[in-house]
Amino acid sequence: MSKIKLNKKYISVFTTLQNNNPSPTTELIFSSNFELLIAVLLSAQSTDIAVNKATTQLFAIANTPQQILDLGLDELISYIKSIGLYKTKSKHIIQTCKDLIEKHAGIVPNCQKSLEKLAGVGRKTANVVRNTAFAEPIIAVDTHIFRVAKRIGLAKKNSLTPLAVELDLIKNTPEEFKLNAHHWLILHGRYICKARKPSCELCILKQNCDYYAAAPC
Ligand code: SF4
Repeated sequence: MSKIKLNKKYISVFTTLQNNNPSPTTELIFSSNFELLIAVLLSAQSTDIAVNKATTQLFAIANTPQQILDLGLDELISYIKSIGLYKTKSKHIIQTCKDLIEKHAGIVPNCQKSLEKLAGVGRKTANVVRNTAFAEPIIAVDTHIFRVAKRIGLAKKNSLTPLAVELDLIKNTPEEFKLNAHHWLILHGRYICKARKPSCELCILKQNCDYYAAAPC
């Protein structure tokens, strides 16, 4: 696709998403950067609904690194055991709380490298935290965005990794849409452009979608 055509597609897709939802945000419930970090860390291979259910109870008791350390591993597990991979995640959370206290004065850093050094925090989690907590124009690519961006044709169809899709999106998304692009695409993937059966009949992006143009679903 030519650069001009691709630019037009990006502008059209994000203008449509913006008109439909001018102020998108995460569906995770949080009231501080630390709560957001823990919620995102727990959300890997889980749903936001399941995470919110657990963290509502947990954060009412402990919502700072020191309070989670005071709670201890076993007590922490009792709050998050309904979430997939809770054993590994609980260990990561304890280590992350230790590191935040020892290396960052108990504060979540707005630094990609520092975030990725925390236990259980990879590129995607760090990107989500920096975008949502610090309003950085960064696009985290999860499984929904990986699928949606390739179906629509915002990213190359043969991209094999989330990083490849992220780089396509960052390179081509106009500045004014970068802050919200992650939330728009994730919500679109979660509710409309679902993995098994996309709801093309309800989709506001049909006119701009390569998948739909090739085989209207
Ligand atoms: S038209 Fe269908 S495949 Fe394309 S973005 Fe919409 S739901 Fe997804």
